Amino acid sequence: MMTGFVNNIIPFSSVDGPGNRTAIFLQGCNFNCIYCHNPETINICGNCGTCITACPNGAIAQNNSKVFWDKTKCCNCDACIKACNNNSSPKVSKMSTDDIINEVTNYKPFIQGITVSGGECTLQEDFLISLFTKAKSLGLTCFVDSNGSKDFKEMANLLELCDGVMLDVKSFDNSIHNKYIDFDNKHVLSNLDYLASIGKLYEVRTVIVPEIFNNEETVKRVSEIINKYDPNIRYKLIKFRNLGVRHSLKSHPSPSDKYMDELKNISEKNGCKNIIIV
Ligand code: SF4
Ligand code: SF4
Repeated sequence: MMTGFVNNIIPFSSVDGPGNRTAIFLQGCNFNCIYCHNPETINICGNCGTCITACPNGAIAQNNSKVFWDKTKCCNCDACIKACNNNSSPKVSKMSTDDIINEVTNYKPFIQGITVSGGECTLQEDFLISLFTKAKSLGLTCFVDSNGSKDFKEMANLLELCDGVMLDVKSFDNSIHNKYIDFDNKHVLSNLDYLASIGKLYEVRTVIVPEIFNNEETVKRVSEIINKYDPNIRYKLIKFRNLGVRHSLKSHPSPSDKYMDELKNISEKNGCKNIIIV
């Protein structure tokens, strides 16, 4: 049976695609963004056991060198996540696609569909294909939120089942992308063009980090591509916030409202009609 590493399931979300949706967050990401707010989603738990003593409720235990988390004892204080030096969490469940579908079935009368996010969900491509096949048979729409690191042209079976993609474009400049994201943006940019060209690009997201990212260039170039295919594709400009971030950006300022409006103007001038600032 197909299983995946699931960090969290939010029964109802209105910010993860069209309408009310169940959002499923998978564990594991191949990026290492300097501004990541959820670094505990990056790696699969290495079973080192460090977090066991950090837990005030005895909710984490080790058996045969595997670490187990007891949801019923957990108060979600996140002391375990703070103790982990592996950008991971013991609060990750290995779930089958049937487990998820059983849970989603409870919410079905109230949702349009499911959105799978991460981490980077396409790293568990076969799991997604199995999950989406079952969700589709229930009449639910299926969206993914992706960092765009894997070539969607090579994921045809997944794309066929996928109603839309929310794509992060962090930096058009590859040297900045490599420096602050720790990964090449080649596939991100080719996916931006390809997904828009086949009508599967639901939304593009850019986190605006003042000073260290070339935000103006990224917003301009993304907007030009959106305009080329469909000016009504939504472009979400997200204000950087330092809550929960690691490293040097812990006290980095958020962009001002004025700067966000300037970026929105750049996007509008380059043809975008559906821009939101969050
Ligand atoms: S979040 Fe849960 S498992 Fe983690 S330390 Fe707190 S009680 Fe223990
Ligand atoms: S969550 Fe982190 S600290 Fe806890 S066992 Fe896994 S790798 Fe070790």
